[in-house]
Amino acid sequence: MICKKIKNPFIVLCILFFLNFLSCPRTEASRAEFALGTVCSITLFEQGQSDIYREIFNRLREIENRMSVNIPSSDISRVNAAAGIEPVKVHEDVFRVLERSVHFARLSDGAFDPSVGPVVSLWGIGKDNQRVPAQPEIDEVLPLVNWRDIELDARSGSVFLGKVGMALDLGSIAKGYAADEAAAIIKRAGIKRAIVDLGGNIVVCGEKKDKSPWKVGLQNPGGKRGEYAGIIMANEKTVVTSGVYERYFEQDGFRYHHIFSPSRGYPADTGILSATIITANSMDADALSTAVFVLGCEKGLSLIKSIPETEAVLIMEDKSIIATSAADFILTDKTFYYKK
Ligand code: AMP
Ligand code: MG
Repeated sequence: MICKKIKNPFIVLCILFFLNFLSCPRTEASRAEFALGTVCSITLFEQGQSDIYREIFNRLREIENRMSVNIPSSDISRVNAAAGIEPVKVHEDVFRVLERSVHFARLSDGAFDPSVGPVVSLWGIGKDNQRVPAQPEIDEVLPLVNWRDIELDARSGSVFLGKVGMALDLGSIAKGYAADEAAAIIKRAGIKRAIVDLGGNIVVCGEKKDKSPWKVGLQNPGGKRGEYAGIIMANEKTVVTSGVYERYFEQDGFRYHHIFSPSRGYPADTGILSATIITANSMDADALSTAVFVLGCEKGLSLIKSIPETEAVLIMEDKSIIATSAADFILTDKTFYYKK
């Protein structure tokens, strides 16, 4: 009957094949999209289905929409706009990240400080208005940077910044949280092997088929993107780096990068070019990589040694690479020298 009405049965077959193709879950080797201010790339080995990629990227955008200072409707922007005026109720995601941020601010004695926002805005690094501010401008904003003035009320889930002009900036921890959330989706979906890479915040999920550890390249801070100083071996771990090469501008022979000393209001200058943390939780690693970068080698390493199951690899200006004892690091660029 149908064939009588539709003159060409071949077309019917083609349509049926196409409909079947649309309804089947498709697999992709990997997917990269721009989110959280960076290129986010997810690789799902073997069972890389489109709907899982979609779920992950939707979750990344949801987190960005709640935490970005560049989105006026985000919870963080609303908290900042109400600084010194009133508490603001925030989403659980945001509250959780802020609680952890305050924890690491305390632990690092303020080297990591989520209230660094006014300093970040003043310098505008990576933006059209980036510049070296005059000292009086820095002196004016420094009293606004103090994690002790962040009031978190767990009962109401609200956040209050104690002084007018204060501003939160989760640029140094939100990607870590997002990477953990992406890894959780991957685990729930039963995917055995995957790599989450949110602009250098890396989580390796599961084991490789041959059971050998994953190899994560450690960026040479002075080299081109993808030029490595060495390799970090890791399984079921996150590898997160804070480095001078991520965002910066140069003026009069100086490089001004995006990781600030909250007490001085200047880019941290501790002799570290990059600080990498290897541990289980990416949010923790993200906060700690920034904290160690600001604290410097000695204090930074003693902080890391006080935290169980957490390792660090530091690349220093003098070309030395210093790692904690259980870090599984192999030097590949022999222009550096490696001390354990
Ligand atoms: P990361 O690359 O993870 O070290 O994060 C750097 C970003 O975190 C910057 O672009 C700022 O938005 C913010 N930031 C800069 N300095 C600090 C600091 N000392 N504590 C917390 N966040 C910071
Ligand atoms: Mg960080």
